Amino acid sequence: MESLSQITTRRVSLEGEVPFTDAHCHLDLFPEPEKTFLKARKAGVGVVITAGGNAEGNMKTLDIVHGGIYGVVGISPEFMLSEAWKIDELKDILKMNKNIIGIGEIGLDAVMAEKSSLEVQEKGFIKQLEIASSMELPVVIHSRRSLNRTFEILKESAVKNVVFHYFEGNENDAIAAEKEGWLVSIPPIESSRLKRVIKVLDIDSIVAETDSPAVGKEPSDVLSVIEKVALLKGISTVEAGERMTKTIKEYFYV
Ligand SMILES: [Zn+2]
Repeated sequence: MESLSQITTRRVSLEGEVPFTDAHCHLDLFPEPEKTFLKARKAGVGVVITAGGNAEGNMKTLDIVHGGIYGVVGISPEFMLSEAWKIDELKDILKMNKNIIGIGEIGLDAVMAEKSSLEVQEKGFIKQLEIASSMELPVVIHSRRSLNRTFEILKESAVKNVVFHYFEGNENDAIAAEKEGWLVSIPPIESSRLKRVIKVLDIDSIVAETDSPAVGKEPSDVLSVIEKVALLKGISTVEAGERMTKTIKEYFYV
């Protein structure tokens, strides 16, 4: 059998198209984002979605995106107290580059409640959902120890396309998200909970991410997540990876 790297090398050179996607990373936090992306591209990861989350990160993200590098911009829960006033700027940033394709990462984080209270977080989250729905944009969600409330707020909003970055729920939560048409993004960590989540979902409700450099080391690490999903779904890694890329492209209109 061919190894995964042999397969991707062959496909890249034959078709000139790079099949896999890292659905969530932070390229702005790498010293040389372009170099990091090119390394991922060589490994078969031709699309990455890099997320801002505060004013500085959003401007860097705007600077980095082009080609297969797409970005989302937003004010994440932990920065809500200090940077809520920056939310209005998002509308302008979203119009500046066609590779800025959504709002994220946004949501609720109970662990960060000391930095920004949950009340403040909710206000900013809802405001950003309103921008997303008025501009018909997808959102990338950060939810930590807040899943029930995050679900409630999302159900009340008019936003349709929702990606749960680093999904924190169990298999029942995953089914509930799938029922709403939302996507569940799997991070590069070993956990029996995530295995159950993967097993219970349709492959077309799943995407893979590295959240690098915070969790995974770099975007090319997404291959190991795709491999794991493929194994649990009983399909080939190439099929799993290509379907995730198709899902992402349809979801983000790219
Ligand atoms: Zn992240």
